[in-house]
Amino acid sequence: MSSDRLWFDPSQVYIGGQWQPATATLALENPSTGEGIGEIARGGKAEIDAAVAAAEAALHGAWGTLTAAERGRFLSKLGRLVAERADDLAALEALDVGKPLRQAKADALALARYLEFYGGAADKVMGETIPYLNGYTVYTLREPHGVTGHIVPWNYPMQIIGRSVGAALTMGNACVLKPAEEACLTALAFAHLAHEAGLPAGALNVVPGLGEEAGAALSSHPGINHISFTGSVHVGALIQAAAARNVVPVTLELGGKSPQLVFGDADLDAALPFLVNAGIQNAGQTCSASSRILVERSRHDEVVSRMAECYRALQVGPADADLDVGPLISARQKEIVQGYIGRGGDLDLAAQGRIVDQAPAGGHYVAPTLFGGVGHNHALAQEEIFGPVQVVIPFDDEAEAVRIANGTDFGLVASVWSRDGGRQMRMARALRTGQVFLNNYGAGGGVELPFGGVGKSGHGREKGFEALYGFSVLKTVAAHHG
Ligand code: NAD
Repeated sequence: MSSDRLWFDPSQVYIGGQWQPATATLALENPSTGEGIGEIARGGKAEIDAAVAAAEAALHGAWGTLTAAERGRFLSKLGRLVAERADDLAALEALDVGKPLRQAKADALALARYLEFYGGAADKVMGETIPYLNGYTVYTLREPHGVTGHIVPWNYPMQIIGRSVGAALTMGNACVLKPAEEACLTALAFAHLAHEAGLPAGALNVVPGLGEEAGAALSSHPGINHISFTGSVHVGALIQAAAARNVVPVTLELGGKSPQLVFGDADLDAALPFLVNAGIQNAGQTCSASSRILVERSRHDEVVSRMAECYRALQVGPADADLDVGPLISARQKEIVQGYIGRGGDLDLAAQGRIVDQAPAGGHYVAPTLFGGVGHNHALAQEEIFGPVQVVIPFDDEAEAVRIANGTDFGLVASVWSRDGGRQMRMARALRTGQVFLNNYGAGGGVELPFGGVGKSGHGREKGFEALYGFSVLKTVAAHHG
């Protein structure tokens, strides 16, 4: 590996507490330059079989005997190690994903915070006693699923590992993590830190590899008891089908077309940074990106003009330059996003950001693009683009705003900008999404806040305390004692 940022060999997989070479390797690319940065492990069925067996053994070994408080201490310790190495992890993520350094560091600190949160929660998940017939005592227990599979995308590897693997370990599951082939360095670094924290062998296993090889082997494995997947709708459906054949539960987080609703009485000065940042953060490659801005017609032109001013100031460049926007993950993703921008030829292109001169020619850069006055049914207003493209859509009243907001296949998050308290409450109920933000967007990331979608955004909830219920099964014990 040519980069001096690597303090481990990424061509190895982590199984049963041991590092071992994978049967094959894959080339890894730096999206900021398009240049190769070395070879990563290409695990396949053999490695997945070994990882599932190691996880199963861990459940019957040291990991399975720990108390909840002891598990919590491991997570807290791992969280501290992640926080201490946040700069190193950020440098890896910037290299691998093309994230501007500040955003990569925020992801590392979010991973640390997930581990801190779940470490503290481990011994606070309780069952209930249930009033029942005379002569009975009935109570519930929260038990781990067993072996959990985690298939993670390339856009926020650290955050998604924190919210899924963190919660699964907290509940005593043993995990097999399959990071994305485009970005697996921080997943491997995470395994190194878990090893350093003394996590018992087999509790965490990491096997990078291709989706159709390692990913398919994991999702169809009969030894897996729960699958958590974040990624595309197409692959999410494949994973749900594979899980159905083994009759195991899945959590699917599949992206969205999330709207911000700006009413005539909104405080636009407060809203403006959120309207723009929620669309261009991580170059728009965010499941909860706000790609649709719905504006009451009386203020449509003002919002477009003020957002356009922000767009013209946006700078796009390599991750290390730490500008507003980095490259997209791959040449393929760039082609897809540019294709969408091309399909906006019939629309009012309000403004674009600027790719800086020092951006390497081989990097996958796309200028952030804002379209105004877009019709709700246009492809750019309906399909997930997964790039720095936003459309502004006018509406006339609350009813139309709700109809447009709810009028896509997705339902992940939404926000409402209005000073009217009654309207805020009406909108919060009417919007068909997993999260609603009132006069903000994203609430700063919200490790503590349950997250997930409806419709094609998926199902199940991760993040917050709620995730601990998802990563466990409820057992009812009814004792008859007369
Ligand atoms: P993807 O769904 O193809 O990949 C996500 C993960 O699934 C990766 O780890 C991949 O290796 C794995 N995978 C792929 N095929 C698999 C299979 N047959 N069985 C099991 N696992 C498999 O997503 P992508 O190619 O990285 O991106 C394509 C689109 O997905 C994007 O344009 C975007 O719309 C969407 N996406 C959404 C999110 C999100 O956070 N919701 C994240 C990444 C991508």
